[in-house]
Amino acid sequence: MDWRSSTVLQMGMSLVDLVVILFLAVVGANLGSFLNVVAHRVPLGMSVVFGGSRCPACGQAIRSRDNLPVLGWLLLRGRCRDCLVPIPGRYPFVEAVAGVLIGAVASVELLSGGLTLPLGNAVTQDRWWRGVDDLLFHPNGRLVGMCLLHGAGLVTLLAWALLEHDRQRLPVRWGWVTFGLLLGVAVVFPWLQPVPIWPTAHAMLSLPAWQVAGLGCLIGILAGWLLGGLFAAVRAAGPFVGQGLALVGGLCGWQAVVTASLLGLVVMLSRCGVQRLFPRRAAAHTDWPCRLLLADLVVALTLQLLLWRWLDQGMTSLFSRLSVGAGG
Ligand SMILES: [Zn+2]
Repeated sequence: MDWRSSTVLQMGMSLVDLVVILFLAVVGANLGSFLNVVAHRVPLGMSVVFGGSRCPACGQAIRSRDNLPVLGWLLLRGRCRDCLVPIPGRYPFVEAVAGVLIGAVASVELLSGGLTLPLGNAVTQDRWWRGVDDLLFHPNGRLVGMCLLHGAGLVTLLAWALLEHDRQRLPVRWGWVTFGLLLGVAVVFPWLQPVPIWPTAHAMLSLPAWQVAGLGCLIGILAGWLLGGLFAAVRAAGPFVGQGLALVGGLCGWQAVVTASLLGLVVMLSRCGVQRLFPRRAAAHTDWPCRLLLADLVVALTLQLLLWRWLDQGMTSLFSRLSVGAGG
């Protein structure tokens, strides 16, 4: 049977692909629902694992059918089933954002066969759309591993962004645990980091792959931390952006710190433009006027992952041009 006979779109997307994309978006929305729990309970010192969700107003346990991401809120018309107190719109908003961003990154990486990832990593295939059948018939553990790592990175950054938005301090140990995990993953699975420290690093360093990957991860974390600190020092960023950029650097290398910062600044300027058009909404943020926030970085990291291959090509050609300039 020709699976392509059910082609829905010109580029060869099948109905099965659309079902998988929807599934990945639902997974993302459920992760967003979990992040709502994290953002509510962590500042109160409550466990995020134990204890079911309760209405903060009347204390009634929330029924599982009302706990569906986005849909639950819509079906309840934004009110608690028991006490009718309004449920803030930010809950379905966070779930929808997580569903769209995580669903987009996961489905593009998996179903394109890693087309958006940097070249030269044996993951990418020069075909625009491979689809579910290709993924099933040619399983690629490396691609799935990278996709899981990128999803975990996005979820972590989203959690930090929510705490920052709520004016909560980010627990410092969360940063250390995250960077320790990133370093551990880089050392144990060096093939999950597709971008070398510089184009000829592997040949010049003559170190085992795990050491090069660990070093690359460490340099990425330090680069992010330094650049974020610099932004904060000139009051262009919120206090936790260094930690967020360090996460980006540990995940994708120092080159991504540069490109994701630029993307983040574009996102920030667009957000501030919108807030200026709707000044009532901006009033809640007057003590942080037009600064790079972790929420901007969440969008920037998503764009970084979706455009990584092309951003990396730009950085590589810039790097070689600079090194030629320095050498000659
Ligand atoms: Zn209630």
